[in-house]
This record gives sequence, structure tokens and C-alpha cells, in this order.
Amino acid sequence: MSKFIVVGGGLAGLMATIKLAEAGHDIQLFSIVPVKRSHSVCAQGGINAAVNIKGEDDSPEIHTFDTIKGGDFLAEQPPVKEMCYAAPSIIYMFDRMGVAFSRTSEGNLDFRRFGGTLYHRTAFAGATTGQQLLYALDEQVRRWEAEGRVKKFEGWEALSVVQDESGACRGLCAAHLSSLRVQTFAGDAVILASGGPGQIYRQSTHSMVNTGSIMSSVFQQGALLGNPEMIQIHPTAIPGNDKLRLMSESARGEGGRIWVPKTKGDKRGPKEIPESERWYFLEEKYPRFKNLVPRDVASREIFHAVVDLGMGINGGMAAYLDLTHLDKATLNRKLGGILEIYEKFTGEDPREVPMKIFPAMHYSMGGLWVDYEAKADGFLNRQSPRNQATNIPGLYAIGECDYQYHGANRLGANSLLSCVFSGQLVAPAVVSYTKNVKSGEAAGSVFESERKRWEDRLSGIGAMNGNENPYALHRELGHLMVNDVSIVRENGRLTKALAKISEFKERWKQVSCVDENPWYNHPKLFINQLYNMLVAAEAITLGALQRDESRGAHYKPAFPNRDDSKYMRTTLAKWTGSAVELSFKDIDTSLYKPVARKYD
Ligand SMILES: Cc1cc2nc3c(=O)[nH]c(=O)nc-3n(C[C@H](O)[C@H](O)[C@H](O)COP(=O)(O)OP(=O)(O)OC[C@H]3O[C@@H](n4cnc5c(N)ncnc54)[C@H](O)[C@@H]3O)c2cc1C
Repeated sequence: MSKFIVVGGGLAGLMATIKLAEAGHDIQLFSIVPVKRSHSVCAQGGINAAVNIKGEDDSPEIHTFDTIKGGDFLAEQPPVKEMCYAAPSIIYMFDRMGVAFSRTSEGNLDFRRFGGTLYHRTAFAGATTGQQLLYALDEQVRRWEAEGRVKKFEGWEALSVVQDESGACRGLCAAHLSSLRVQTFAGDAVILASGGPGQIYRQSTHSMVNTGSIMSSVFQQGALLGNPEMIQIHPTAIPGNDKLRLMSESARGEGGRIWVPKTKGDKRGPKEIPESERWYFLEEKYPRFKNLVPRDVASREIFHAVVDLGMGINGGMAAYLDLTHLDKATLNRKLGGILEIYEKFTGEDPREVPMKIFPAMHYSMGGLWVDYEAKADGFLNRQSPRNQATNIPGLYAIGECDYQYHGANRLGANSLLSCVFSGQLVAPAVVSYTKNVKSGEAAGSVFESERKRWEDRLSGIGAMNGNENPYALHRELGHLMVNDVSIVRENGRLTKALAKISEFKERWKQVSCVDENPWYNHPKLFINQLYNMLVAAEAITLGALQRDESRGAHYKPAFPNRDDSKYMRTTLAKWTGSAVELSFKDIDTSLYKPVARKYD
């Protein structure tokens, strides 16, 4: 029996925990928030699996191709294949666990369409899919907790991993959020399932807890990042001052149409504008996929219509997402949750009035680089210790914080799938690592010195009393990333953004801790997170600068085409101790030869 550490109680972390507990191992599960509040709970639209219940001749093979093409041929292909083939069994597993998936009138599981495919492949539970899936896994984890297999550390923030003299990961260093006590924990392997880094953009669809801080921290300890520049901008969110609230792709999946008035600056309300005077630009340009083109394509087209052509609603920064032509009872049944969100935050009923939306930072395809082991038939060796392993021995990454499955653009509803799948895949991998690779016990001194390092760092932060406000600096970082490292990327602006990030790092040294309390001191931990966000922002921006092509979510008008000869490679980012250094790694494209990525 081994003892493992899992950081993160979203879908990925809970799935890994369950699989390890089932295999008879002990797990210490860390999460900043109570696991049921992990960001996965916000997922709305659904989870993909080619179950082919609608008789469309869909198959896991077509799902594999759609995912690889959707990611613009940047994903390593064997892990994608293994995931897509595993997807139907994942849906049936959740069904057995009692997830209340939406059903057809005959009682079959219902599937909706999502972007980047012509098939009904997305299983869903109304518009609260993530919540239903997360709660199902949470129940299973509680069962193991009651049996003593799982010990939860909710309200703890992982700060770093503990490495031995050889650099291998031997455990975790974490801070208790209320007492700010720093403690180390030994583990046979550590699995990071810490979610995405949305707070680097500040205004995003992500939860507050998604700073990517621990990802950046282990990056600074030697873990590589893969494709950090690949950031997904979701086409449809409600603009807001605090955050940008997602209007799920399921709205388009159920027939939602995107349009702007044909006349620039038209001041009429949407209901006064007749059909003939509306410009359905996606339907016009992409007659096959229409409003269900992949997210990168839809975001760029909305940006083009609204910003480049100035055709936004009333000349402003929004387009319409229109559901008003659809049957209200069906809308309530299938999209109730998101319609309520819109109504609550705007005061308008989207069943009666088209929603005003604009693209928003939503997801990171990039993350910690992880390995895999493929067999000759293109499937994975499920017992390999290499699966989901970072380059730090004993450190694994799964879920949104890894880079593995989505290449340059994620297809909607493929994230919940990759989280659950990577959670399943990592369990035999860490067990195999412990049995076959890991050597001896680590000296106690490595735990002691890591704890001391963090105690010193946090007390140093507590004593900072310069003239910079850390929250204001975060806002500036967010503005910079949204403006310069987002949908449209230009080398001049990226170069300036890098200089600005260096300046922010200098200004970070002058922040004031604001709060002197020795406990419940949020600024203390936040200032550390902010530094880590600055480092990760540097990797994202440098990656974007170096990739002189357009691929998936990465769009450079000066280099409008995909350049496979030079850039069909994973960007690998390494921390030198003071800066980010990039290299490129070839990818396995043996299953599908790259083709032009067209949706028209
Ligand atoms: C509004 C919204 C809707 C979405 N809808 C869909 C959808 O319909 N379909 C789909 O496929 N995808 C969807 N996504 C994407 C998907 O929800 C996420 O990518 C996925 O849930 C991430 O899961 P995860 O397990 O990797 O991490 P999360 O669910 O983000 O969990 C991260 C966990 O890590 C913990 N953590 C983080 N840092 C630390 C630390 N330093 N120490 C300790 N714990 C830490 C947190 O407490 C949390 O428990 C949506 C995303 C958003 C924003």
C-alpha cells in the first residue's frame, strides 16, 4: 500500500483519488476550497463521448479526429485517441453513479451538439453538468473518507513540492489558510489537479481560486510547461466589471444564433430589427457548422465584426446571442441554469430578449508538460509510469493544469472528459512509479528545509510595506493580458507586454502586505500567488511571441497561416531561475496527417 498526495478536488483530482482508493492506497487530498466548490462545479454545457445513441454513425475514432483537428494538429495524438475511446465508458460510469443526465422522451441519454463537430456527442445534465458530475464523485470520495482511505485537507494551499537531492518529488509543502501554519507532507508521488490559471487575465470566466499559482511554483522548481501560449477565449460571455460570466456553448448547441445589426450604429432594440436587417455572420461564412464552429473561430469572427468592423450593438463591444426563436419549455428544460444566470446579472429575460455577449478568457490548453507511453496500435500502455508524469520524477499533473489533450484549441465539452480521463489514467501510473521507479525514503532534512523556505518567504511577504497595492497590480496585469495576449496577437505588442511584465515583477518587490494579521491573512498568500502569476504570464507571452504562425487560438495577423514545418511542435517552457527559456519538441502525428482546418 502506498500513500499519495492529490492537490485539487475538482473532477480530475476526485477521479484520481477514487481510482487510487479503489486500488487500496491512501490519499491525502488538498484543496483551497471545499472540494464541492471546486471550479468544475461551474461547468455548464456537457461532456463529450461518441456513444452514437442518435444513430448518426458517430464513433470514438471520429471523436479522436475532431479533437485533433479542433486542436489544429498540435496535440500529441495517442493520448487523444485513448481518451476518446474511453469516453463512452466514462458516461456509463457516471450514469451508474446516479448522475441525473438529461434524457430523451424514450428515456435514453440525450446528447446535444457542441462546436467543432457535426454529431450530437455531448451528454449533459440540463445546464449544470459540472455540478452533477462533481457531486457524484464527491459522494464516492466521502465513502472512501469514511473508510479511512482518504484524508481531506480542505482550506489548505499547496505552495510547492518537496524535492530530494536528486530533484525527485517526495511530498508537498502547504499552508493552512486560517492559521497560516506551513507544513510538509510526505507522499510516494504527488498529483497536481489544480485547475486552470484564469486569474492571470483577472477578467475571465474562471473562479477566483484559479490563479495557476501552484503550477507556476512547480515550474519554478523545474517542471516544464507545454504550450503555455495556448489560451482559449470563449466567444460568449456576459461582460461584467467583476468577472465575465460564461454563456455556455450549449446555448448555440440548442440552436442559439449570433448576430449584429446590418446597419452600423443601429440604435433600435433587437426586437425592432427585422430578420432581413440582421447579420448572421457565422451562418453566412460557415454554412456547414454555422454557429457551432469551434470557439477560436467564433471568437475571432465576433471580434472582427465588433471591433475591426465596428458593427457591435449600438457601436459598443457586444453581439447578440439569440434564443428567442426557440421553444420556451425546451429552453427551460435544457438551458435553465444559464438563462437564470443571465437574467440575474442583466435583469433581462433571454427567452424574450437576445443576450448581449462578448468573448472572454476561458481556458488554458497549455499547462504542465506531461508524458505518455503509446503502444504500436496508437493506444496507450495504461500501466506505464510515464502517463501524466511531469519531468520531475514523482510529480504528476492532470486536468486543466496539464497540457496534454487539446493542442491549440479545446473543443467544447472535451475538458470535463479530459479531467476525468486523466484522473483515471494517472492512478495506475503513480502506482507503477512507486513499485518500479521510486527509490528509498527521502531524508527528513529536505522536508525541513522546504518548510523553512516557505516560512521565511511568507514572513518576508508579511513585512513588505512598499507603495504598491498588490490587488491594483493584479488588475494591471489582467488588463495587459486581455489587451495584448488574447485573441489577436502582434509581435510589437507582445514585446511591449513582456517588458511590462518585467516592470511588474520589479514593482511586485514594492508591494505592501496591507494586512498585518498573523492569521486569516489573505494578502500574504495573494502576494505570493501574484508573483507566481507574473512568472506564468511571462511564459504565456514569450510563447506567443516566439510562435510566428496562426494555429487554433493563437492568431497572428502578420503570420496568418499555420506553419507545420516550423511550429507543429510543442512549446516547452523552462524556468532558468530568473527568466523563461523556450524550446520546441516534435509531436506524434502518426495517427492523422495534418490537413487544412476548415469548417466552411
Ligand atoms: C463557466 C465555465 C463553464 C464550463 N463548462 C464546461 C463544460 O460544459 N464542459 C467542459 O468540458 N468544460 C467546461 N468548462 C471547463 C471545465 O469546467 C474545467 O476545465 C474543469 O472543470 C477543470 O477541472 P479540474 O479538475 O482540472 O480543476 P478545478 O475544477 O478548477 O479544480 C481545481 C482544484 O484545485 C484546487 N487548488 C488550486 N490550487 C491549489 C493549491 N495551490 N493548493 C490546494 N488546492 C488547490 C482548488 O481548490 C480545486 O479543488 C467550463 C469552464 C467554465 C469556466
